[in-house]
Amino acid sequence: MIRSDKDILAVLTSSLEACAIYDSLELHIAYASANMLQLWNCDKNVIGHPLENCLHASDLPSYIGQLKKTWHTGKSHSDKNVLVKIYHEGQLGLHACNLTYHPLINESGETYGIYHTISIIPDNRLHFQQTDEKKIIERRLLQDLLTQKYNPVNSVHGNTILNRYHTTTNKRAEDINEKLKDALKKIIESEEHYHFALQSAEMGTWNLNCKSYIVHWDERTRELFGFAKGESVPYDEVLKYIHPEDRNRIDHEVKKSLNNQNKGLYDVQFRTIGAEDQKLRWLHCKGRMYFDQDQQPEWFAGTTLDITSHYAEQEKLESINNLIAKKDQEFRMIVEAAGIGIFSIDLETKKMELNDRCRELFGFEQQANIQEHDFFAQILPQYRDKIRHIFMEVVLKQSPFDCQCEIEDKKTEKIKWLRAIGNSQLGVDSRHQMIYGAIIDTTHDKEEERKKLDFISIASHELKTPLTSLIAYIQLLLSKEQTLSSDKRIQYLHQSNEQATRMRAMIDGFLNVSQLNEGKLLLHKSTFSICSLIDYVRNIYSLKPVKHFIHYTGKVHSSQEIVADRDKIEQVIINFMDNAIKYSPKNSTINMHVEVDHTYFHVQVNDQGRGIGIKDQTQIFNKFYRVNDSTDSYASGFGIGLFICQEIIHKHLGEIGVNSELGEGSTFWFKVPIHT
Ligand code: ADP
Repeated sequence: MIRSDKDILAVLTSSLEACAIYDSLELHIAYASANMLQLWNCDKNVIGHPLENCLHASDLPSYIGQLKKTWHTGKSHSDKNVLVKIYHEGQLGLHACNLTYHPLINESGETYGIYHTISIIPDNRLHFQQTDEKKIIERRLLQDLLTQKYNPVNSVHGNTILNRYHTTTNKRAEDINEKLKDALKKIIESEEHYHFALQSAEMGTWNLNCKSYIVHWDERTRELFGFAKGESVPYDEVLKYIHPEDRNRIDHEVKKSLNNQNKGLYDVQFRTIGAEDQKLRWLHCKGRMYFDQDQQPEWFAGTTLDITSHYAEQEKLESINNLIAKKDQEFRMIVEAAGIGIFSIDLETKKMELNDRCRELFGFEQQANIQEHDFFAQILPQYRDKIRHIFMEVVLKQSPFDCQCEIEDKKTEKIKWLRAIGNSQLGVDSRHQMIYGAIIDTTHDKEEERKKLDFISIASHELKTPLTSLIAYIQLLLSKEQTLSSDKRIQYLHQSNEQATRMRAMIDGFLNVSQLNEGKLLLHKSTFSICSLIDYVRNIYSLKPVKHFIHYTGKVHSSQEIVADRDKIEQVIINFMDNAIKYSPKNSTINMHVEVDHTYFHVQVNDQGRGIGIKDQTQIFNKFYRVNDSTDSYASGFGIGLFICQEIIHKHLGEIGVNSELGEGSTFWFKVPIHT
């Protein structure tokens, strides 16, 4: 089936032949190509008039008789190499021509027109042969077009006479004739348009003889394939100039058309590489297959259009799209990595969109459809009104929001603190008001904040005790200055000194933490004897009024040295020892064991105290962490000692840990390299 007038006119306009269509026995001219008008020396005004009336009596051509005969017989006829009186290059004369007469037959077998061609025999025989082949295709296309256009009219009205010049009372026939006239007019008009369009679109035409496998093409198609010359090229040769990546596909498509697998229609886009200029071009080829009476493929014809620039645009667009997709992906990755949940609420439909992280924060299933009420259901009741109010304000004032609230994780039922930041605006592809927001989990920050507050209250409380004692001793000394014995005075002064030293130790601890927070923990390394360090520690505990049995085990050679920050390693051992004393009962045993191997200095402090549960063991090295033990008598502390120990040991590239069981006592240990 011919898809449009353009299909046929693509071939007609590239024809070298003069052609005309007559639609009555009187040879009324329905269509005449520009070349035909030249041969007649007439202009377009002749259209609609009988041929005999148009030409000068002396110029009347000899073929009028044959035209009338063709109308009557309904049989095609051709005259080869006959002399015809025509105008050629402005001169009337007899010229050797080939003529064809093709009746246009309707479904009832009646003639309703004649398609007539004249071609002056050129010198170049090869060319002539090709135009002959083209002529056959043109005729078929034209026949197709006219049959398709007018037959339905005939079948509807059952009318076989289409000649509008016949005097008839049959109104229907007149209507049909009018339609015929219009249709032919349209063809003629569109020929001009199409010719113009073809040129301005730089479209080429081609056809493949399915018997000889020779491709004939016009100059434009040849140019698009990058061929220097040759109007006829074997099909295999043509394939060579198709880009290697497209070649098989195109060959396959052609074969499909030849086998009538795609209803004879062919519509492909592919690349060619210019034979001479090596230029890469993108072509769009459309075509169709014509079959002979035995349904064997006869001709394969169509058009070629250069779409390189279109592809370049498309590629540009694609690369922009890829860039956007990449940026989008990057953004998503950043959002994912930062653990940010993203959500939107359509305030009209109440539907919510959430990214994976947001679903995870709320404990929603990944695939579940989430509505606004599901979201509010997870917010703890005391915050719901506040959040609703914030959302309302955001929409009214179109200003951003930043709020915090507690929610319950739907899956784990854990309470979390979340912070949401966002804004309200119209949806990208809807007219609905939307709320967009980003959510982060602030549970940890809140916990830290709480710990800090606890710390401040504990620290103030702890400092207050020695300070009160200190003030009491000073007041005592002042008020009883005259009466106090020198022994008592010295005793009070010692006790004041002890309280002040306790306070200083506490304040040192706070300072250590703030130094650690700022990353300012600096090591002052030196080479020192391990034995001297152990002796020093033993000395401290021999002087302290301790109610425990302290043992020292392990052996270290007296010449054994270590490169480390002596004060800080000492601080860690003392912290272990003080804790062992603090968290184990009176009269129990504490054992400090030391060892040195090739690489490490090992220290273990074991006690018979209350022990530490597995869960707490993982946390006691965290800042401000204290085991919550309500059964025991209160042991003062801030939960920063072990945190500082861990920092010191890690700074020395060592390891630190605890082995413990509840009720069975604990063993705190560390090891540091002896040479760093
Ligand atoms: P502090 O002792 O000042 O609270 P630490 O950081 O030294 O701070 O210790 C953290 C917590 O670890 C303590 O509060 C205590 O609960 C636990 N802990 C430390 N040493 C022992 C020990 N030897 N036996 C039992 N619990 C201990």
